[in-house]
This record gives sequence, C-alpha cells and structure tokens, in this order.
Amino acid sequence: MKTIDLRSDTVSHPTPTMREAMARAEVGDDVYHDDPTVNQLEAEAAAKLGKEAAVFVTSGTQGNLCALLAHCQRGDSVILGDTAHIFRYEQGGMAQLGGIIPHTVPVQADATLRLPDLDGAINPDDEHKPVTRLVALENTHNAAGGLPISAEYTAAVGEFARENGLLLHIDGARIFNAAAALSVDVKDLVADANSVTFCLSKGLCAPVGSVLVGEREFIRRARRARKALGGSLRQAGVLAAAGLIALREMTDRLIEDHENAQLLAEGLSEAPGLRIRSQNTNFIFFSLAPHVNVTLDEFVRVLREEYNIFMSIYGGEKGVIRLRTHYWIDRTAIAKTIAAVSSILS
Ligand SMILES: *Cc1c(COP(=O)(O)O)cnc(C)c1O
Repeated sequence: MKTIDLRSDTVSHPTPTMREAMARAEVGDDVYHDDPTVNQLEAEAAAKLGKEAAVFVTSGTQGNLCALLAHCQRGDSVILGDTAHIFRYEQGGMAQLGGIIPHTVPVQADATLRLPDLDGAINPDDEHKPVTRLVALENTHNAAGGLPISAEYTAAVGEFARENGLLLHIDGARIFNAAAALSVDVKDLVADANSVTFCLSKGLCAPVGSVLVGEREFIRRARRARKALGGSLRQAGVLAAAGLIALREMTDRLIEDHENAQLLAEGLSEAPGLRIRSQNTNFIFFSLAPHVNVTLDEFVRVLREEYNIFMSIYGGEKGVIRLRTHYWIDRTAIAKTIAAVSSILS
C-alpha cells in the first residue's frame, strides 16, 4: 500500500528529474566558489527574487541565522512575531549564538504584525537599551495556519523600517506558496526586504537546502557566518542540481497543492465530528468534536496502521491535527484519505 504522508511538505522527496540532474551534476569545491552548479543556483535564485546575490545554505534555520548574524551586532535587538518560526522553533539561535535579543510583538489573525506594535518595540537611543536593528516577517506564516501576507502589507513594513533606520528580513520558507496563492511575482513580495530565506526542500521537493538572498556585501558577510556555523559545503552541486529544478519547475505548480488542500478540507469537513479549523495555501488544521468516541492518538494510529496514512498531532495547539499537501499527494491520495477518515469516524 502506498504511503500517504500528510504530516508536512518537508517529507516530500526528490522527483525523478531531480535525481537524474543530481547524478549528472557538475561539481567543484564550493568553499573556493568552484562549484558551477551551486554558482548557477545562487545566480538564478538571486535573479528570481530580484536581489543582487545569494548563498546556498543547508536549512531554513541556517539561512535565517546567517541573515541575523550578518545584519546584527551582539547586543542588537530584532523585532518579530511572538509565534514566528525564528522565535519559536529555531532554538533561539540568534540569542544563543549571536547575542541578539528577540523583541516579540503579537502576530495578528491575518498573520501580520501591527505597525503601532512595531513602532512601540523600537528602543529609544538610550544606553540602557539594546539597539533595535531589524524587523523580521514570515511569509507564509506557519503558526497562523499557512496564511500568506500581501505585497502591499510587506511594502508598508518596508517603508516603516526605512523610515526608522531598520533592516527588514523575510523568513520566506514558503514564499513561493505565498506568491502562488496571491498570484503575484515573488519579486513583488520581497521587493522591500533586505534579505529573504526560502526553502528548496519543502513544497519544492529538493532533498536538502535553502537559499538566502540579499545585497552582495550582505551575502559576503552571511557566507562568513555560514562558515562559522559549519555550513560551508564542498561538492554541494549534487544538492544544488535538485535545487535548480525546484526553482525552475516546481514553483508554478504549488497552486495544485493549494487546490488539493482545499479539496481535502472540503471532503474531510463532511466526516461526522470533524471540524476544519483553517485551510490556507497547502495547510489544513482540524480537530475532532468532543462527542467523537476515538481519541486523537487512536485516530492517528488507526490511519497509520490500517490505511498507511500519516498525520501528526500539532504541537502548537493541543487537540489539533495539521496536514500539509505537497507534490506526492495527488487526487487519488486525497480521495483515499477522505474515505479512510469518514470510515473511521462513522
Ligand atoms: C521550515 C521553516 C523554516 C526552516 O526550517 P528548516 O527545517 O531549518 O529548513 C523556517 N521558517 C519557517 C516558517 C518554516 O516553515
């Protein structure tokens, strides 16, 4: 029985085209800037996001941390959402390794941060206070249920940052999902950002890697930070080859994942006792009504053992299951999942 893995889009594995490209990739030592495939990926990524330069990193976490280390001094403060991935799920790397102080503001239901809250988080020029250096946004926003934030809002934050002498970083792990959902060029979503991290290894299906983009001089400093974090790779072209396919061929199809998530949510909502909490981009959150006589743990176990369907309980909110659609979840998988869930719940 084929596994239907809905736990996350991070479980997506490389496509046959990627595996072929990886096998044929030209490589060199990237620490000498000698890997032509990595160089190509970095050039194409920078161009696609409308920035000067890029650096290939092992993960989104590493990309975000390289960005913050390159933008900030020890003792600087970064303003970001209280449910931001950088704040909640990256081990506080900015503080742990960079001596950078996170200053959180509440993430609104629409995944934005309010400008007055950002304004209130800027420290005055006062020797008692950390120097406020940067604002970080997240698009799509993980904890807000995969909601995209608009180009207009991002531009407003960009203008606010410039007026206040601050930098803007975007954690764009799923920025291409946001671009697809909003039907905008990804360049327009990041035009006001000094730097952006995006993941090749989630919905875009590459096996490993993220890219950090920004100005040339910033990327030079980020490469130094990457080295200190142990992230300089040698013949990384075998990975970048998959990344190039991710960038060239996988971004435009993300809309299919969003359509599938919508179909899945519609189908699941018909199952007795199942309540869809939210469905945005490729995310679905749902819970089971109290009267359902199966616990969430049992529900997940039966799906796995009897149907080979993988779901996981979302850590952020007790009693909620989060699903993410991706390249390997097709319409057949959607139909099988809806059928399995309704048979368990009826
Ligand atoms: C996945 C993710 C990251 C980085 O994750 P890695 O697992 O380190 O690649 C960063 N931000 C958001 C919003 C993410 O979803």
